[in-house]
Amino acid sequence: MFTHADAPFSAFADPAAQRDLVASRFEGCGWEVPRMVEAMRSADDLFFDVVSQIHLPVWSKGRVALAGDAAHATSFLSGQGSSLAMIGAYLLAYELADAPHDVAFAAYENRSRKFMEANQALATGGSAVMSPRTDAEVAARSAALRALDGLPGSEHSEVHNALTLPPERATV
Ligand SMILES: Cc1cc2nc3c(=O)[nH]c(=O)nc-3n(C[C@H](O)[C@H](O)[C@H](O)COP(=O)(O)OP(=O)(O)OC[C@H]3O[C@@H](n4cnc5c(N)ncnc54)[C@H](O)[C@@H]3O)c2cc1C
Repeated sequence: MFTHADAPFSAFADPAAQRDLVASRFEGCGWEVPRMVEAMRSADDLFFDVVSQIHLPVWSKGRVALAGDAAHATSFLSGQGSSLAMIGAYLLAYELADAPHDVAFAAYENRSRKFMEANQALATGGSAVMSPRTDAEVAARSAALRALDGLPGSEHSEVHNALTLPPERATV
């Protein structure tokens, strides 16, 4: 991972440019990095993407409702995307079991939007442990990794657990 002033969209259609960009960003890093960069150059399954989130004003229209990343992608910087996708799918099914789709879609969004947005904010609040931008942030990240109690996540457990799921609803 590396930070970049602008999303390098021009590299998305050009695998050679992706490899050059990654190699240039990690040049001079020492340790095992040159070996990893060399392996990346010959890999035939390189995954290259920009870290992004999805923010939508509304998650449904007509008979279509979005859940998971399509509705509120949080990016892997939060470590929460899979959990949010499953929680959203559960709540969508929960509401649909008891109401017509338009009522259920609104109830699903009302019940979960605040929770999803709070978790998205974990990745954009400037404390993203995985992408330190300054020497001080690098030092804080390294200290956190050395002290297992401080691993990313533990300080956010209040946000992670801020929504209590209703019990399974019987369907007819
Ligand atoms: C590098 C990386 C690391 C991550 N690390 C973590 C982590 O540590 N912890 C965590 O919780 N989350 C992590 N995430 C996020 C997590 O992977 C996503 O939030 C989660 O997978 C979202 O689930 P989803 O079902 O909403 O979407 P997806 O998992 O993206 O599923 C969507 C599916 O729809 C399919 N699809 C797309 N278009 C069509 C179409 N037209 N027709 C049919 N099918 C289609 C796709 O192929 C895909 O299988 C990470 C993500 C990335 C990219």
